[in-house]
Amino acid sequence: MSDVLNYDDNCLFCKIIKGDIPSTKVYEDHLCYAFRDINPQAPTHILVVPKVHIPSVAEIDGKNEALVGHMFTVIARIAREEGLEGGYRVISNCGPDAGQTVPHLHFHILGGVKMGERMA
Ligand code: 5GP
Ligand code: ZN
Repeated sequence: MSDVLNYDDNCLFCKIIKGDIPSTKVYEDHLCYAFRDINPQAPTHILVVPKVHIPSVAEIDGKNEALVGHMFTVIARIAREEGLEGGYRVISNCGPDAGQTVPHLHFHILGGVKMGERMA
């Protein structure tokens, strides 16, 4: 069970952070939570989410930029701990054209395989 600082009752990832929906935890601190994607698209596929309900990258601003910076420190730490020495990709889908399906800011960490050059 984790505390989420400011959550949305109807949000899937807020429920995961609170422990209402089970997940495979990779990392947690007072600001963010990381867990394995239920439908992995690479040998390593981890989602990093803030413990505050921010809908997407479009809502990053001066009030939460320090939190987002911290999330990238956590991303680099997780990648080291997961042994992704060969490299990895960090993706955040923002909005319908990008295919965002869960409206709670998250960064995908994808690794463990040589990826194609195209990103879209
Ligand atoms: P998006 O499409 O919004 O960029 O990414 C959402 C991600 O959440 C998808 O990769 C999807 O597989 C993952 N996902 C959706 N529901 C669940 C769930 O209940 N548990 C976990 N661990 N991942 C989920
Ligand atoms: Zn949420």
